[in-house]
Amino acid sequence: MNAVVASGNAGKAGQEHPAVGETELFGETGLPVVEPGYGQAWTERYSEALMNTFGAPQKVLVRGEGVYVWDADGRRYLDLLAGIAVNALGHAHPLIVQAVTTQLTTLGHISNFFASAPQIVLAERLVELLGQANDTDARVFFCNSGAEANEAAFKVARRTGRTKMVSTEGSFHGRTMGALALTGKAAIREPFEPLPGDVSFVPYGDIAALEAAIDDQTAAFIVEPIQGEKGVITAAPGYLRAAREITARHGALLILDEVQTGIGRTGKWFGHSGTGVVPDVVTLAKGLGGGMPIGACVGLGRAASLLGPGQHGSTYAGNPVACAAGLAVLHAIERDDILANVRAVGAHLTAGVKALNHPAVAGVRGEGLLLAIMLNGPYSAEAAKAALDAGFIINAPAPDAIRLAPPLILTTAQADEFLAALPALLDTATASSKDA
Ligand SMILES: *Cc1c(COP(=O)(O)O)cnc(C)c1O
Repeated sequence: MNAVVASGNAGKAGQEHPAVGETELFGETGLPVVEPGYGQAWTERYSEALMNTFGAPQKVLVRGEGVYVWDADGRRYLDLLAGIAVNALGHAHPLIVQAVTTQLTTLGHISNFFASAPQIVLAERLVELLGQANDTDARVFFCNSGAEANEAAFKVARRTGRTKMVSTEGSFHGRTMGALALTGKAAIREPFEPLPGDVSFVPYGDIAALEAAIDDQTAAFIVEPIQGEKGVITAAPGYLRAAREITARHGALLILDEVQTGIGRTGKWFGHSGTGVVPDVVTLAKGLGGGMPIGACVGLGRAASLLGPGQHGSTYAGNPVACAAGLAVLHAIERDDILANVRAVGAHLTAGVKALNHPAVAGVRGEGLLLAIMLNGPYSAEAAKAALDAGFIINAPAPDAIRLAPPLILTTAQADEFLAALPALLDTATASSKDA
């Protein structure tokens, strides 16, 4: 037995399998072998071995290819969540596999006493995509997650000499203590207080409230172009421009948290692209690595050099393998004109959901392939459950909103698979909500 992870299609009916948990089945690489039919056993082992921070997993997954994943029992799902807006190129994309494999077999990790070409080129590319190629004052700090990107931004803001931070109600900036302090979702923040202080929250999209909250002592205002975790809440056009104008007037930094909206998710390179806004700091993660853990905090103008030697760091920051994955993602988006695909398939999904005229649907909001199907009642958890049973992975960020954040390579034909199934899923969800 030297298969690494069985494809899930190779069920050998009638054959005796050692019970998972009693007999370990390891391939030559040391990776566990997953035989079909043991999904429940793996779920139980998960609960015993892992901290219960995420609740029970919905499924144990073994394999992914393109926009599909397979579970431990060999069932296939259309992945319309993409690891929460992470797998921009879907699963096992040849370019990422090749880039990561080549880099890992060449040079895997080096620490920041040294530098690598993938790290340097990825930083240059991000600066260029942000429209700052000719501005020598645009620099990148790499890290390993979205929370860390916002931690770095928080520290950049502290180096202004001011401590007052303004954030938005309902926002999500990550789970580490600094990022959590900036997070507007009270339920996840409050159990960990006291947190790094001097943070106030204003209603998202409210320009007058922002005007009132920001003064000459404000270090920074941090805001998402779209509040993804809140349920894909968009702000009125002009909000980011107003935020830029107000922060500039008071000498405060404008930090755009593009961890979810960045790298093509909205059909543009960044959520703020096209607004004319030049922020001071942009934070990125999720889609940037296409599944490899990487984050980035990009400082523009004076924010590019507020952190000096010894003031910040991370052992893995700019890891060559993660940066190689980032380069592969950017290369694929350009080579395959993926931004145009995001716009087209996003518009197709939006129009398709609206055309259903289903009584449970109140509308669709969002941009590109970061969409929420707005519901007329608290049916989203039931809808996500019905979808999983029917072979679709969707997500319920709010009781009345279903989030779709599929791979950016989703085709209209694949979107149609979901649109065809959606009315029945919504019927099931509304019926079981009424029973409850
Ligand atoms: C996911 C997310 C984060 C946190 O990223 P992690 O990689 O989970 O730490 C921060 N900000 C936004 C807008 C996000 O969507």
